[in-house]
Amino acid sequence: MNLIFMGPPGAGKGTQADWIINNFGIPHISTGDMFRAAIGQGTALGLKAKEYMDQGLLVPDDVTNGIVKERLQAPDCQKGFLLDGFPRTIPQAEALDEILTALNKPIDHVMNLKVDRSFLLARLTGRRVCRSCGATYHVEFNPPKQQGVCDRCNGELYQRSDDTEEKVGTRLDEYTNKTAPLLEYYAKKGLLRDINGEQDIDVVTADIQTLLRGQA
Ligand SMILES: [Zn+2]
Repeated sequence: MNLIFMGPPGAGKGTQADWIINNFGIPHISTGDMFRAAIGQGTALGLKAKEYMDQGLLVPDDVTNGIVKERLQAPDCQKGFLLDGFPRTIPQAEALDEILTALNKPIDHVMNLKVDRSFLLARLTGRRVCRSCGATYHVEFNPPKQQGVCDRCNGELYQRSDDTEEKVGTRLDEYTNKTAPLLEYYAKKGLLRDINGEQDIDVVTADIQTLLRGQA
């Protein structure tokens, strides 16, 4: 099952991605993880990417696309993959189409977790993150069992400095502007599946389950 996961910051993608990888046995592939792995393994493309990143430059598309192609050929992608944070632009989406055609791994769904801006603002300003393991909670929507303490590792929970209303607003506007053309691109291909991300986490999971049923 070959999936792309889209949704604004704070839409709850991480929680749903965890559920998908646990239930379908496919890897969650985020751009950051992919770069770190390629650099850590010292692949030719990883080293190239590192050169740009060390200079504070954006990694060019041909390098990024090469790293994506290598990652999608790894043995753990045999049953599929969940791409998150890639593609970000139309040229990247077109390159991905070429890669997936060459690998004979067509996209099944582009899942778009839809959440309204005002809802996201409320959600993000209530967000708390674990200092030790990075798990995220929300004081209202997804509270830890014990206030201020991580359920997973007992680490301390804190509020990130960039979870203020102004900074969140800027991030959301950037996301919307950048991804609008991509959503249109996949809608035209008949691959876009809107999922209402404003529902309870379990209901969102159930909607995703319905969408993916029978495709494991
Ligand atoms: Zn933790």
